[in-house]
Amino acid sequence: MKSSPTSHFPILISARSIQRRIPQLARLIQQAFANDPHWALISILNGSYVFLADLGRALHKRGLTPPIDFLALSSYGAGTRSSGRIRVERLFTLDIRNRNILVVDDILDSGRTLAQARNLLKARGARSVRVCVLLDKQTRRKVEGKADFAGFTIPDHFVAGYGLDRDGHFRNLPHIVDLDPPL
Ligand code: 5GP
Ligand code: MG
Repeated sequence: MKSSPTSHFPILISARSIQRRIPQLARLIQQAFANDPHWALISILNGSYVFLADLGRALHKRGLTPPIDFLALSSYGAGTRSSGRIRVERLFTLDIRNRNILVVDDILDSGRTLAQARNLLKARGARSVRVCVLLDKQTRRKVEGKADFAGFTIPDHFVAGYGLDRDGHFRNLPHIVDLDPPL
């Protein structure tokens, strides 16, 4: 068998752990939104597309089918550090006025991306904005911001897989790999 090009990177979070965690997140989200007929999910592209697909189906198993739309923001270019500048690449078309929004993103790092998303959603009339991320790099926060729902807290290492990329690669891994493991 040919070895995968990522096989020399250690797995930080296995596919199994992710698949065990997602139904738990869905349960917490259900507790928060089940009685709200006006909530909606906004997924931040590109990194959250795999997480959203699994989380969305886990929510469906719990009887929840909120409207889902997408907001593409970019902060990185090809680097591995947040540039601090965030561009809106694609805006959702869903009318979010008076809706309680759950933002879904891959990872909370400096917090700038989610701060920008929060401002944008509020400016367009969202009643409230809560945040669900798969990964949380708590030690890296530059602007205030907490995830209401977080899958895993991870150290300050650059990671990829399960939607997260390095230069566009590795998004389709079922697990999370650590691209700067300790030497
Ligand atoms: P923030 O604006 O919170 O600094 O960064 C959030 C965005 O930066 C995430 O949505 C993600 O796209 C990217 N990012 C942050 N840390 C990592 C990482 O370790 N790996 C990858 N692939 N992207 C990251
Ligand atoms: Mg992202």
